[in-house]
Amino acid sequence: MSYFFLDEYEHMEPYVPGEMPKDREYLKLNANESSYPPSPKVIEVMNKAEVKAMSHYSDPHCMELRKAIGDEYGFPKEQVFVGNGADEVLGFCMMSFFKPGMKVCFPDITYDFYRTYATTYRLDFHQFPLTDDLSVNVEDYIYTDRDVILANPNNPTGKAISTYDIERIVSQNPKRMVIIDEAYVDYGNESCVELVRKYNNLVVIQTFSKSRNMPGARIGFAISSADIINDMNKIKFAFNPFNMSTLAIVGGAAAIRDKEYFHKCIEKVEEVREEFEDELEEMGFGVIRTTTNFAFFHCPDVPATILCKELKKRGILVRHYNDERINDYLRITIGTREEMRRVLVQLNSIRESVYDCAG
Ligand SMILES: *Cc1c(COP(=O)(O)O)cnc(C)c1O
Repeated sequence: MSYFFLDEYEHMEPYVPGEMPKDREYLKLNANESSYPPSPKVIEVMNKAEVKAMSHYSDPHCMELRKAIGDEYGFPKEQVFVGNGADEVLGFCMMSFFKPGMKVCFPDITYDFYRTYATTYRLDFHQFPLTDDLSVNVEDYIYTDRDVILANPNNPTGKAISTYDIERIVSQNPKRMVIIDEAYVDYGNESCVELVRKYNNLVVIQTFSKSRNMPGARIGFAISSADIINDMNKIKFAFNPFNMSTLAIVGGAAAIRDKEYFHKCIEKVEEVREEFEDELEEMGFGVIRTTTNFAFFHCPDVPATILCKELKKRGILVRHYNDERINDYLRITIGTREEMRRVLVQLNSIRESVYDCAG
C-alpha cells in the first residue's frame, strides 16, 4: 500500500474474477462466457467506418444503444441507462443512491461483486442466508427496512424467484430501493421489468455478457423510472461522461436488434444444459437445476476441490467456491454440445482414477 492510498480502503476485498491462466489452451467454462460468437450483425457494424469514427468522441448520451434497448423492452430511452458492463451499471447505481452506513441486504451466497462494493464503500450490509436447499427466502426481503440487491436467477446457485415474489418485495415499501440483477434472465425466466411501469423504487439490470455472447464488449444496462435513470446519468457525467465506446454503442444496438440469432443461441444453450444436467444425474451427481447458461452440481464421491484441480490438469476450467455452504459444488458454464461431452468424459475418468487409488 502506498503512502497515498486512502485508509478506508485498507480492508477492501477486491472482486476476484475467474482465473485466466495462459500456460496452455483451456476450455474456459469458469466465467459463464459464451462458446458462440456475437451476432453476425455486430461484426457487420463494427466496420471500417466505425473504426474511423473513433477519431471523435463517442456519444456520451449513448442514444442509439439506449433507444435500441428501450424499443426491445417497450420503454423510452429516458428510462434506459447503459454502462460498461452490468458491473459498472451497478457501480453507478450504488454511487448514486448508497452512501457509507446505508443499510442494504443481499443473500449470503450470491454474486461476489455486491459484497465487494458494499465493503469498499462501507455500506451497512446484511447477508440473509439462503435456505437449506439454497433458495432465496423471499420473506427476509419483504420485511426488512434495508435496500435490496438480488441476482435473479441467482449466481452461482442458478435458482430464480418469481415476478410475483419480486412484486411482494418491491411493493412493501416504496421508500426502499430494490435492485434486481437479471444477468441470466434470458435463459427461460420471466423478467420483472414490467413492474417498472408500476413502481418507482425498482431498478432492473441486465447485461450483454451472457445471453448476447459479448462479455468482452462490456455492455450492461438498467431500466427504471425516468427520475432514477436521470440521477444515474448525472453521476455518470460527473465521473466518466464517455463511458461507452463507439464500437460498444453500435455493436450493442446491432446485437439487440438481431432477435433471431439471440433466440437461436439461447435455445442451444438451454438444450445442451438440460442434456448435460440429465447426464450428470445419470452418473449419480447431485444437480441443482438452473435456468441459466451454467450448471451447478456436486459429486457424491470426489471432493469438488479435487475435481476442479483434476479438470484443470485436463485443460478444463470450472468455478469452485470456498464458501463453506457450497464448497462441495462446482459451477460450470454451458458450452457447445461437443465441449460438454468432453467435460463428461473427463469427469468419468477422474472418478475412475480416484476409485483406482482408493483400491
Ligand atoms: C456475469 C454477471 C454480471 C456481470 O456482468 P457484466 O456485464 O459482464 O459486468 C453481473 N451480475 C451477475 C449476477 C453476473 O453473473
